[in-house]
Formats: sequence, structure tokens, C-alpha cells
Amino acid sequence: MGSRGGLQMVNVRTKELSLLNGGFLIVTPLVAVLGTGYYIYYSGVQGCDILNFFVFFALVLFSISIGYHRYFAHRSYRSGPLLRFLCLLFGAGAFQNSALRWASDHRNHHRYVDDPEKDPYSIMMGAFYAHMGWIFYKETPNKTFDNAPDLLKDPLVLWQDRHYILLSALVGFLLPLALGSLFGRPWGGLLWGGFLRIVIAHHVTFCVNSLAHMFGSQPYTKKNSSRDNWGVAFLTYGEGFHNYHHRFPGDYRNGIRWYHWDPSKWLLYVLSLTRMASKLNRIPDELILKARLEVEMQTVHERLQRISEEVRDGIRKSMRPLFPGEARRRGRLSVQQVQSL
Ligand SMILES: [Zn+2]
Ligand SMILES: [Zn+2]
Repeated sequence: MGSRGGLQMVNVRTKELSLLNGGFLIVTPLVAVLGTGYYIYYSGVQGCDILNFFVFFALVLFSISIGYHRYFAHRSYRSGPLLRFLCLLFGAGAFQNSALRWASDHRNHHRYVDDPEKDPYSIMMGAFYAHMGWIFYKETPNKTFDNAPDLLKDPLVLWQDRHYILLSALVGFLLPLALGSLFGRPWGGLLWGGFLRIVIAHHVTFCVNSLAHMFGSQPYTKKNSSRDNWGVAFLTYGEGFHNYHHRFPGDYRNGIRWYHWDPSKWLLYVLSLTRMASKLNRIPDELILKARLEVEMQTVHERLQRISEEVRDGIRKSMRPLFPGEARRRGRLSVQQVQSL
């Protein structure tokens, strides 16, 4: 990492465009739309195609949510080696970088949220940049992963980082193709479980960085742009309760009420019964209540300030027609002075 003005530079992107990343982000949607459309036109749609899509969508997205995000980036629970391996394997099929790089970027996002330079996908750089624009730029070479010493000690994480391209091709394309072949529809498998699933999983995940920093409620903190967004939560297995998550990133849940759509927390709970996951970290209710009350106090304070300004304006306006006339009658002010009031 370089330094500027004595400050350590942590931004993970250079100003140089990455042909590989840009090409992948442009070509995959083209193949997904045109290829799948062409395939449907000539071969129709069968249940196995839809199944292929949802099987790989679920495997990959859960691996990102409970693996990359809630375990590797935030350590919100303790994971056994089998679960870690599965999340690393299927997480690679999301084509969102290796867990080491993803988690390191994400830790910077939390630490420097909204900083246009240090937050890798800062919403202050615009909705498109936060959504996917940042990926078009090359990573800083020779990253040191200063913020992820724990991950550098995990041999499984390093193994996935080393073989990331191979693993992502295996899970992203070859396994869906193999599953499709079992039903006699290899191209259907490649298009539905591969390309189409990659593109949709990409964009729903990207919505956490764009939409969940723009639209929704802020019940837990107003100190950054994060929002609780039910639509994004529905699409991402619970990751849309982003305001709570930014306030308490160490909680294994993102949606804390029983009715909050957070399948990732339900899956983790089930996994904890099998001991594949343990020590699920829950923030105590009192701390959550305190955070909510602080936000409400702030809201009340802002409202009171607005009201007092409105009252002041109202008094000023109501005084204006009376005061000049009064003043002129008493002859204390000139015509120009009265007009300037
Ligand atoms: Zn965020
Ligand atoms: Zn996070």
C-alpha cells in the first residue's frame, strides 16, 4: 500500500481499468439474455433448467452471505472446517473474488463507510460506482491484507485464493453443465445454472452496496448512509437489513425480529444444531434498544429544531406588515428603511 500525506492508503482500487473484470461484467449478461433466450426459443424451458438455476443460486448466495460475509468478513460465529470449505468452494462460483479479497474489501467498507477514497464501494461515488462501477478498476497490486491477519492464517482461505479462477470455473460453469447433463440438457444447465444465475446473483448482491445505501429506513444509526431495505433483504437471503448490520456487524443476524426475512440467520441456526456452526453471536437486546433510542432522540431533536425555526419565521412574517406601519406612524424610520424590512 502506498501512502499520501502520511496517511495509509487503504483503497483497494487503482485508476486503471481491468479488462478482465469489465469484460466479464459485460459479456455474462449478454450471454445470459441472448443465449438463454435463444435456447428457450429452440428447446423450451423444462423444470430441470429452473431447478438448476435455483440450486446454484442458493448454494452460491448462501455461501456469500453466511460464508464470505458473516463468517470471513465479520466472524459473527464459529465455523467448522467442513462449512468453511463448502462456503469457500461454492462462494467462488459467485465470481465475486476470493474470500480473502472480498472480506478485506468489506472490512474497509465498514471501517471507512461513505469515505469516497477509502470505502472501496462508497455510495458517495454514485449509485453506479457503488453497485458495480468499482469492479471495473484493477485492484491495488501487492495488497498486504493488513486488515485480515486472521484470514492470512487460515490455510483453507489461502488455498481458495490461490485456486480461485479454477474453483470459480468449476462451480460457476462446469457443475451446472454436469447437473444439466444428468437431465439430458447440458446447454440448459450451463445457461440457467451458469450464466443467468451468475448475472442475477451478481446484481442482487451488488444491490446491498447500492440500494441498501440509498433507500430504506435508518432505525439503528444515522451516522452513515446504510438503510434497512426489505426488497434487498428478500433478494439476498437477509442481507438487506443493512442499517442494523452497519451498527452491529458482529451479530450473526441481519434481520433481528422473528418476522424479518433473513434466511441466512435461519440457516445458521439450523447449522448450529448440527455443530457445523457454533457460538452464534447475538448483540444484547439492551444495546440494540439503546441504539434505537439514540436515533429517536436525534430525530426528535432535529424536529424540534425545525419547528423552532418555523415558529421564528412565522413570528418574523407576522410582525412585518405591522411593524413598518407602526414605525412609519411614529416617524422613527425613513421610507427606505421601512421598505428594507
Ligand atoms: Zn454497507
Ligand atoms: Zn458487513
